[in-house]
Amino acid sequence: MQMLSTRGAAPVSPSMAILRGLAPDGGLYVPAQYPSFADADIEAMAGMNYRERALAVLTRFLPDFSREELAAAIDGAYGTGFDCEAVAPLVRVGSRAHALELWHGPTLAFKDMALQLLPYLLTLSGKKHGETREVFILVATSGDTGKAALEGFLDVPGTRCCVFYPEGGVSRAQYLQMVTTGGSNTHVIAVRGNFDDAQTGVKRIFADPAFAKEMDRQGRVLSSANSINFGRLVPQVVYYFSAYADMLASGAVRMGDPVNFCVPTGNFGDILAADYARKAGLPVGKLICASNENNVLTDFIRTGTYDIRTRAFHRTISPSMDILISSNLERLLFDLSGCDGAKIRDMMGKLAGERVYTIDGAMMAGLTARYDAGYVDEAGIRAEIARTWSKEHYLMDTHTAVASAVLREYQARTGDSTPSVIVSTASPYKFGAAVLEAVAGKAAAQGLDDFACCRALSQLTGTREPDQIAKLPQMPIRHSAVCDRDAMAQAVLEAVR
Ligand SMILES: *Cc1c(COP(=O)(O)O)cnc(C)c1O
Repeated sequence: MQMLSTRGAAPVSPSMAILRGLAPDGGLYVPAQYPSFADADIEAMAGMNYRERALAVLTRFLPDFSREELAAAIDGAYGTGFDCEAVAPLVRVGSRAHALELWHGPTLAFKDMALQLLPYLLTLSGKKHGETREVFILVATSGDTGKAALEGFLDVPGTRCCVFYPEGGVSRAQYLQMVTTGGSNTHVIAVRGNFDDAQTGVKRIFADPAFAKEMDRQGRVLSSANSINFGRLVPQVVYYFSAYADMLASGAVRMGDPVNFCVPTGNFGDILAADYARKAGLPVGKLICASNENNVLTDFIRTGTYDIRTRAFHRTISPSMDILISSNLERLLFDLSGCDGAKIRDMMGKLAGERVYTIDGAMMAGLTARYDAGYVDEAGIRAEIARTWSKEHYLMDTHTAVASAVLREYQARTGDSTPSVIVSTASPYKFGAAVLEAVAGKAAAQGLDDFACCRALSQLTGTREPDQIAKLPQMPIRHSAVCDRDAMAQAVLEAVR
């Protein structure tokens, strides 16, 4: 299986795509063909555990890795770091849906599903291609990717990880998780700007030949742990198969019945992995793209126009979705265009220049056949958390609540009664203050810091506060660098000096 660049550069192997992160023409790598799982392959997964399911999926998507290599990587990634045997459990939310919980890993958000595995894939890829330089991972984070990448790459030999986050743009727990990271190969830098500034800055560093040369002189080579890296996407395909296999096992569906997934979306990586699962034969119905007040994707999926000319950036209580330029959409556009790299180059040029583009009728037809979309405002998020807790006794975080609310709106609007999965992307304790306010009212959180909120939330709901959160206030702060958004390259060089 070869990987194509969305902007037309020469195809490479999956391991090379993972090693590089971004294609040399600035495009994203996508599979040239998709594996095809027969019904019997999927049915067999019903009797497997998560690691076996991961092996079944990844051997087919990553043919230049051996079965033994992948098995060892999967055992390392999804072993002791997860707090439950199922790794990605599927639980009922009342009688209306299931929640696919992707936050049982070390940093309590779904990024762990990929970032626990990526370091293995990346170091294996380096070996395959005779790479002797230190792989230098640059990350822009809206809050969750940063800690998950730091945790995944912590003290992994031959790697170094540098994270940029928007100053003041992440929750207190997210901030402390990152800046208390130990290890000898980690760097954390705040950017004076929002997530788009951090992401654009990282992309600019990747495109800068002088920077690459300086890294090379230092014996380093850049790569990415953001979801622009195919090595981030492919582990995410696994949990869609796993959810379906769990539904087969419980009798919630019979083989071949479609399932809808409603996904709280920012950079479009999580939901795109579901589309890849569909392309590989999983019976996926509609993919429902759920946004917060930063609803550029809702408008795009409804109208075919992606327009950020006059759009304000909103800081919300679901900060990991506060994004205006959604990177992985480029991969979907490439697919909808019939793999037309020139067309994508043109559209991405328009986005960078005029800050708007419109897809043609054929692409729009493909888009609306597979996707639906909706968004919810801040009050709607709080109301959804309160409602699901009181009516269905399920406690959800602010991101998951976006998907939950949008799914209910979708079902009411369309009457679609296909079995549905809410993709649950973070532990409620990662956003404890907002969740406590939602279930107990603003007064309950008054005067409490985030950690006191988590304790109160635990007492109120009888759910357990994860140790990773409880221990944070006592941990020393190890990273305090701050830089301007146009000085990120310099900040990296200073950090590694
Ligand atoms: C990253 C993140 C998202 C958005 O995922 P994308 O792949 O960027 O669309 C949603 N929820 C949480 C908790 C996240 O950390």
